[in-house]
Amino acid sequence: HARAARHNRDLEQMAYAISHDLHEPLRTINGFLGALQRHYGHVLDAKASEYIGFVTSAATRMGRLLDDLLAYTRVSSPRMTLSQVDCEKVLDGVHANLKATIEETRAVVSHDAMPTVLYNEAHLTQLLQNLIGNAVKYHGKEPPRIHVGANRIGEEWIFSVKDNGIGIEPRQFDRIFQIFQRLHPLTAYSGTGIGLAICKRIVEDHGGRIWVESQPGLGSTFFFTIPERQPNAAGVPVAG
Ligand code: ADP
Repeated sequence: HARAARHNRDLEQMAYAISHDLHEPLRTINGFLGALQRHYGHVLDAKASEYIGFVTSAATRMGRLLDDLLAYTRVSSPRMTLSQVDCEKVLDGVHANLKATIEETRAVVSHDAMPTVLYNEAHLTQLLQNLIGNAVKYHGKEPPRIHVGANRIGEEWIFSVKDNGIGIEPRQFDRIFQIFQRLHPLTAYSGTGIGLAICKRIVEDHGGRIWVESQPGLGSTFFFTIPERQPNAAGVPVAG
């Protein structure tokens, strides 16, 4: 157990160092790309300008990947504080954060009566926002219809986010929760492939499980569990 924790910490520090240190050379690349365009733009032919364009968008993409890697490493449990969180309020916040995309796609988001649970509020917001954001993003021909469910089964809550979108092939179910893994070219859907990796991390840090049920063309339902438990004196989750 201790060795696994140390291993995780090492990986985390490495990811942090990588994302942090690579920003510096990236700034240099972006800076000189700009200078190249400003000072030599007028003498470059169309091909050369096109190449500069490719390098510029690759550099922009790399910046986003680094930012997301940094965001991923910051979702770490040691500093996590738990409180009784009203999920109804969390959903209102998520709805407000996603307002522009929801209106743009004419998405309809409904939900069950939501419970109050012991969780880190910022993490729960991010978790539901990533799942609902994906449900809106990966829509099919119809405007997105999304339902957030909450069912109490035994000692745990099972939350679900169901959509009527493009769906996912069952053989990809494990892959999509891995960092930087995506199923579509950027030209089809934007993104860096870190949203679900962050979701998995948040859910597991809180002692839950996350999974998906889906068929291509038939929509997807993402599930995650929240174990019922009491905070200990330190206010950190009890393992198990
Ligand atoms: P991103 O959306 O940035 O690519 P995520 O980690 O959030 O990264 O998702 C990983 C991949 O899982 C996505 O690229 C997409 O292929 C697939 N995916 C996630 N959510 C859905 C969904 N609701 N419907 C269909 N595919 C999805």
